Amino acid sequence: LETGPTDSLEDRMWRQTEAALEEADVAVMLIDARAGITTGDEHFADILRRGKTPVVLLANKCEGRQGQAGMLESYSLGLGDPLAISAEHGEGMDDLYEALEPLLGAEGHEDVEDELDWESREPEIVIDSEEPDESFVHSVQRGPVQLAIVGRPNVGKSTLVNKLLGEDRLITGPEAGLTRDSISVDWEWQGEPVRLIDTAGLRRKARVRNHLERMSTSDTTRTIRYAQVVVLVIDGNAPLEKQDLTIANLVVEQGRTLIIAVNKWDAVDDRKKVMEDLNDRLQTSLPQVRGVPIVQLSALTGSRLDTLMPAVFKAYQVWNTRVPTGQLNRWLADATARHQPPAVSGRRVRLRYATQAKARPPTFVVFAGRPEALPDSYTKYLINDLRESFDLPGTPIRLLMRKGENPYANKKKR
Ligand code: GDP
Repeated sequence: LETGPTDSLEDRMWRQTEAALEEADVAVMLIDARAGITTGDEHFADILRRGKTPVVLLANKCEGRQGQAGMLESYSLGLGDPLAISAEHGEGMDDLYEALEPLLGAEGHEDVEDELDWESREPEIVIDSEEPDESFVHSVQRGPVQLAIVGRPNVGKSTLVNKLLGEDRLITGPEAGLTRDSISVDWEWQGEPVRLIDTAGLRRKARVRNHLERMSTSDTTRTIRYAQVVVLVIDGNAPLEKQDLTIANLVVEQGRTLIIAVNKWDAVDDRKKVMEDLNDRLQTSLPQVRGVPIVQLSALTGSRLDTLMPAVFKAYQVWNTRVPTGQLNRWLADATARHQPPAVSGRRVRLRYATQAKARPPTFVVFAGRPEALPDSYTKYLINDLRESFDLPGTPIRLLMRKGENPYANKKKR
């Protein structure tokens, strides 16, 4: 809440606070009732009074009546009736809850984590009893697309987010670790809702050089868990270093869909060579998600920035793909005919039936006589073939082998 000369650190942080206040459902102003009203209290009360955000005024340290005078004095702030509380002793929390409840609307605060938790669990094999129609079913839109922008320090994440949102929302600049730990920002792209997840998370630990590796991995893992589409920002002048690949692998392991944004394109001299190197590295180090979308852009100048969000929505759609069972089984018959499963101990492993267990990411189950006998290389072949046959570039595909017959043969359901 400090103020300072224009464009100083304090000033920029204050502008962030102002922006946060404007977006908040409610502001809670806390005073120290034992100290009485200070000029600082008056200053901030003034700001709050002029804003549109509803305010709840709390007089703290009111246990044992010692804050009585200060509490009464706080009426002079013009913010309505103060609530006497003691944060340390937990007094007045019921009143606080009552005061906040009507101000915090019931809608709009759904539990993201629960839903995503469900999605990242190993899927049970529950066969949907309702078959999708003949065409693929894309994009079962449930709320905003949850987007995370991740990458090593200094690749330009904050610059990119600022440019996308078109406001000075995250602080970029020479001071490392500045950006606050903002959890998410809701925003719209061409009328489509987007929730930008915890993009600041990575900046904080830039300070803690010693623990850089460990902390960035755990922070990034957390961010990725909340996201559906993850944009990995890399520096066009140092494309795909080890740490970039570590993050990319995390995204894929967690079943999120990945996009690579090659940033600082304005400052890249030999663009052709950069793309060749990048593609080579992707082929050797990230073969499991062939066809990851790559966009080149400059967050600083805004050049080619308009290619990013279409790629995000396309990737989101692919991630949501559902292939009808009929098509899937025609594919299975065809794929196993083109390239037969190997014979193990003199007997061929028979693949009997395939179905898609879930989307986000596309997860398929193939029932076989002896699934344990099928080598990994064959599963990989099937995944690559699925990717090509159903046009699923870049998205993680899961293929689970299960022992059994066609589950519809005996009407087995949930
Ligand atoms: P973050 O740590 O990933 O959030 O990176 P920042 O957004 O703070 O950017 C780090 C530095 O890279 C800043 O000095 C930016 O001005 C610079 N930068 C970001 N994007 C670009 C770009 O597209 N081109 C160039 N030349 N510099 C950039």
